Amino acid sequence: MQRTPQQWSYWEKDLFLDGIEVTVLGAGIVGLTTAIFLKRLRPDWKIQVLDQWTIGGGATTRNAGFACFGSPTELVSDLTTQDEAATFALVKARWDGLQLLKETVDMQKADYVPCGGYELFFSEDELAWADTVDQIPRFNQLAHEATGVKNAYQIKTPAESGLPFSGLRQVVYMPHEARIHPGKMHQLLVAQAINMGVPVIRGVEVEHIHTDGQYAQMTTTDHGILRTRQIVVATNGFTRRLLPELDVQPARNQVLVTEPVPGLTWDGTFHYQEGYVYFRRIGDRILLGGMRHIDKMAEMTDDLSQTTVIQEALEHFLFKRILSGKKVAITDRWSGILGVGAQKWPILKRLDNNIIVAVRMGGMGVALGTGLGQQAAALTIS
Ligand SMILES: Cc1cc2nc3c(=O)[nH]c(=O)nc-3n(C[C@H](O)[C@H](O)[C@H](O)COP(=O)(O)OP(=O)(O)OC[C@H]3O[C@@H](n4cnc5c(N)ncnc54)[C@H](O)[C@@H]3O)c2cc1C
Repeated sequence: MQRTPQQWSYWEKDLFLDGIEVTVLGAGIVGLTTAIFLKRLRPDWKIQVLDQWTIGGGATTRNAGFACFGSPTELVSDLTTQDEAATFALVKARWDGLQLLKETVDMQKADYVPCGGYELFFSEDELAWADTVDQIPRFNQLAHEATGVKNAYQIKTPAESGLPFSGLRQVVYMPHEARIHPGKMHQLLVAQAINMGVPVIRGVEVEHIHTDGQYAQMTTTDHGILRTRQIVVATNGFTRRLLPELDVQPARNQVLVTEPVPGLTWDGTFHYQEGYVYFRRIGDRILLGGMRHIDKMAEMTDDLSQTTVIQEALEHFLFKRILSGKKVAITDRWSGILGVGAQKWPILKRLDNNIIVAVRMGGMGVALGTGLGQQAAALTIS
């Protein structure tokens, strides 16, 4: 097994070791778009992407695939910790990020469906509805200013919405939301990077970064020490392992998928309770995820396993609300890791001559990721 650089051939060293200008750490949406935009800006630079995992891209291939820019209860919640300007700057960044993503990859090949989205309020959500309903006209005005979209949030009765969910009391329809297949989107980004001459190297875990002002050295678990001029750290929910001083905490999100359920009459991206709960269709199946707010401390982890507490809560919501008592089998369960912190805005900054970080995407990375990648590329050449 040739693992450390001492065992590499001349040719391998020439390609993957010598004169690497930028190493992007993390092959999620942020790392891959950083590499793509950077290669456009500096075609002559040797740029590479490293990832610890042999397949997939962190949360990027484990998410729900919502192309969304902020549901009303999420905005109400954001306004308790930040002002209107910051809240709708984030809406704008999400909207702009989605437009940039559409320009960057052929979204039809990523199963892009402009299905519209819904925020749901059930019988037990009267208080949340009371906090939300009066804000809708203002949210529409601010969303229009931020994105150019009119009537982003439309109040509907359950009957008007046509949604069959048990105990549904109020609905806010968001016609501009869409869904994608995040795995296919990721594959398209990987292919684009490779086609541009950016290798995406897998199975390399970096456990320590050391800089001397001229170079950055990455100590890896199995591949010795690698050297590069600059590193862009795009490790999101795993960042504290490398840079514990940054305010990026891991937050696990658990997901389940059902067997095919014939006769589903609804489609869209569905949000509940400030975005903590979300569901959609995958063909005739239902994907449902989230609920970390019911066991928040336990879910502040980058461990990819599942827990009974969350899985039972997801199943309860599925059978009681979505399927009105009907039982179906669960065929898939998995977890993914968000990067969160005291602020919702991502962290993009140069730590020193050799290290840039582009992390803390929360549950918004499909929307924010491409814009952050573009900004990280610009920062890397500045
Ligand atoms: C279950 C779930 C559902 C979600 N749903 C949505 C949604 O519908 N819409 C939306 O916009 N967002 C959603 N998100 C959030 C979104 O997926 C993330 O914000 C986004 O994918 C983050 O992208 P990233 O590139 O920053 O990080 P990631 O995709 O997590 O990529 C980081 C990469 O870094 C690698 N890495 C980490 N540490 C190291 C190391 N030391 N050495 C080498 N490699 C390393 C990891 O292996 C990983 O591949 C969801 C997230 C989850 C978990």
